[in-house]
Amino acid sequence: MLYTMERKVSKEFGLHAAGADGKMRILFLTVSAMPRPIVAQIHLAAMQHNLARAKACAPGAQAWGVVKANAYGHGLERGMRGFAAADGLALIEPDNAVRLRELGWTKPILLLEGWFDGADLLAMAEHGIQGAVHCIEQVELLERTPLARPIDVHLKMNTGMNRLGFAPAAFAAAHARLRAIAHVGSITLMTHFANADELHHPCITLAEQVRRFNAATAGLPGPRSLCNSAGVLHMPELGALLATDWIRPGIMLYGGTPGGKSAEEFGLRPTMTLTSELIGVQEIAAGDYVGYGSRFQASQAMRIGVVACGYADGYPRHAPVDTPVLVDGVRTRIVGRVSMDMLTVDLTDVPQARVGSQVVLWGEGLPIDEVAAAAGTIGYELMCALAPRVRVVEA
Ligand SMILES: *Cc1c(COP(=O)(O)O)cnc(C)c1O
Repeated sequence: MLYTMERKVSKEFGLHAAGADGKMRILFLTVSAMPRPIVAQIHLAAMQHNLARAKACAPGAQAWGVVKANAYGHGLERGMRGFAAADGLALIEPDNAVRLRELGWTKPILLLEGWFDGADLLAMAEHGIQGAVHCIEQVELLERTPLARPIDVHLKMNTGMNRLGFAPAAFAAAHARLRAIAHVGSITLMTHFANADELHHPCITLAEQVRRFNAATAGLPGPRSLCNSAGVLHMPELGALLATDWIRPGIMLYGGTPGGKSAEEFGLRPTMTLTSELIGVQEIAAGDYVGYGSRFQASQAMRIGVVACGYADGYPRHAPVDTPVLVDGVRTRIVGRVSMDMLTVDLTDVPQARVGSQVVLWGEGLPIDEVAAAAGTIGYELMCALAPRVRVVEA
């Protein structure tokens, strides 16, 4: 059978087919409009691989797969499937914690900032969700909110990051107060590192944070939870210093580096590849300018590719000239300002490129960390900022 597609004025499509009698028939009248060519491919096998890498760094420890912020932009449900082998999933958003239960996750769930109000506590008890407790106000709320079932808590110490957590001197008292609450189950002891990516940090070192933690938890029972990705990646070399019951890797599971070495050197694989296409090509002359604000001026005649990707897709607007990009597999660079729906690239080294050529913004073949560094940010931010209008597919 021979099919032809016919575009109607209304932007609807009619699929015409010639039947056995030779007559043309319209098989259906409407096909929904096509999305723009920008696509984020999520690599579930790479997510599994990276989780295995994290576990291999911490033999004997259990691993929370951190899926906050929509699984770092990958989609909560995909995070759940990609990290099915994790011992638990950890996140920040109480509504998404409940959503994980609805999606069928039966292993532990941890809220990394704990509860924000009494309703969260009721939901946590109902769905068996654990939570960090980092301030006295949370303890007080827990004391006056009777729960039908006890919840497991993770008492957080501020060992030098000075963001969340009890001061070391207040830790034992907070622990005793939690112990006295009938609807508290287990109490895990937890802290968070400020500079785990840089072992010899001049301000506060990982070793110093561990020393403070150990000193203030000596004699307290309960499992320990210490390492984010940067800590996990140091576990093989630091051994006993970081010995722990639970690890909390996030960015490494998504193939990003928390700092120090590159993701590839750490044996991590990219989990998100953002691709698009050239939707236009301009031949410009020496002296011509490109884009808003005319921020780029050609020093010689050149070809400019226009890519269907802009800051409304999550690409960083501050990415300067020379930020790397792949066109037809060839590494080239951004020129001109990133606009809402488009960005422009130098096609000098890609003479064969034309409308429809494939463009990789980050992911396989172009580490997200390199793009982030060029734009003055980190891979975390790029992943999390992936915009809802970008089509996401699993690859
Ligand atoms: C986000 C988060 C993590 C994971 O951090 P990464 O740097 O992405 O590995 C671990 N622990 C806590 C408390 C967090 O909030």
